[in-house]
Amino acid sequence: ARQLMWFRSDLRTLDNSALAAAARRGPVIAVFLRSVAQWSSHDHGANKIDFWQRGVEALRDELAGLNIALLHRDIDTFDAAPRALIELAREHDIAALHFNREYPLNEWRRDAAVCDAFQRAEIAVHAHTDAVAFAPGELMTGQGDYYKVFTPFAKAWHRQVDAGRLTLRKSPTPQARLPIDSDPLPALPRLDDAPVVDASSWPAGQDAAADRLERFLRYRARHYRQQRDFPAIRGTSELSPYLALGMISHRQCLQAVMSENDGHLADGDAGLTTWVNELVWREFYQHIAFGFPEVCRHRPFQQATEKLAWRDDEAGFSAWCEGRTGYPIVDAAMRQLVRTGWMHNRLRMATAMFLSKHLLIDWRRGEAFFMRHLIDGEFASNNGGWQWAASTGTDAAPYFRIFNPTTQSQRFDPEGEFLAEFVPELSALPVKARHAPPHDRLEKLAYPPPIVDHKAARQRALDAFKALKS
Ligand code: FAD
Repeated sequence: ARQLMWFRSDLRTLDNSALAAAARRGPVIAVFLRSVAQWSSHDHGANKIDFWQRGVEALRDELAGLNIALLHRDIDTFDAAPRALIELAREHDIAALHFNREYPLNEWRRDAAVCDAFQRAEIAVHAHTDAVAFAPGELMTGQGDYYKVFTPFAKAWHRQVDAGRLTLRKSPTPQARLPIDSDPLPALPRLDDAPVVDASSWPAGQDAAADRLERFLRYRARHYRQQRDFPAIRGTSELSPYLALGMISHRQCLQAVMSENDGHLADGDAGLTTWVNELVWREFYQHIAFGFPEVCRHRPFQQATEKLAWRDDEAGFSAWCEGRTGYPIVDAAMRQLVRTGWMHNRLRMATAMFLSKHLLIDWRRGEAFFMRHLIDGEFASNNGGWQWAASTGTDAAPYFRIFNPTTQSQRFDPEGEFLAEFVPELSALPVKARHAPPHDRLEKLAYPPPIVDHKAARQRALDAFKALKS
């Protein structure tokens, strides 16, 4: 009997739980529902949406090799998903629908509505756990609560993860051809901005992702622990956009680590094990998004911080967005984001902390701005990272831990190379001066003075957080 595979952010045929299950039961027809208006309402910008589109194109070719047709429907918002899928199921005489679960609130609600509609229509529907080793709810504290702190979560994860959870799902073999053709993928509607991402640097699809993983493991993984904090070095995997849209799975990543590391995830090479930890962070934030759905409603994880007196400061916000704060590392990072659609993790932390602490501007504005520009924009990690930096989240950096942007710059871009690349005005300065350009040179360099004084801004943030306690 025919099975309908609904692809969302799992754009691959390899190691795909729902696709493997569907292919076991019968011939498969695939569908992708493009919901650009919904994506935009989630603040996804042109870089991510363009990558999504290219990912679906790549998927169509991968599926063609298996004789699986990929149907396409444009729906504006998630509300239209149940009807679109039921219509397709009836039209193609589908016995069961398959999809991989997604955990943020709107996605979860959409899926619940789809399940309801299929039950009413008496068509089977199977939701699969795929994007994480443990479904939210499977890994809980001794008291039966969700973990609120990363380290015990990670310990439990390592203790309980077993081979079965990480076994690669069977890739389907080519099926007998059905009399159904793939739909052409219509061009994207006009978006507010044009994508800036260089498509040759970020080719879409599972082959590109597998290539990237292989190169990372061959050349960088063993130095990851030493090199991952330096934005001038390509020391990280740059797999985030691929993981966010499921062009590669966490299982594929972890299996590859194990085969390089005598079967281990937590012992052995320090570079590899540190990298595994980052994948566990990714999973932790998926659990948080599901276990504490208020974070999906623009609420802070730490409720007490709801009352924090964020400042209204349009000029400050614009300066941050445009990379004109007068703090070179912040400006270089923000220009990297806007110009390339990606930002290094160390700098995501530094810029997020600068907005929420030095400028005391509501972290939610920064969260949305990141989302609009990132090619890897992903709700759970972005929200988790922002709330961490703003000290409103799980594991939050204690509110009094406020990075000094100049010291961060000296430590993590000691040669000033990253600064020179993205703030070329400063490249004429000697390396040491780039981190905090001398005031008497600013005018000539056409570079702004610091928008706030570090010490005073730090104190202002401390006072605002202390005021919550009284
Ligand atoms: P690697 O260092 O090679 O790590 C491997 C993978 O682990 C990443 O691809 C990613 O999937 C995961 N990972 C790494 N660090 C984290 C982390 N701190 N939290 C969750 N997962 C992690 N990541 C996103 O994928 N999408 C986002 O929208 C996003 N927004 C962020 C916002 C802020 C304020 C902060 C501080 C972090 C954010 N991150 C986000 C996490 C992290 O910065 C990126 O995943 C990482 O920079 C991607 O580069 P990479 O693939 O080379 O990572």
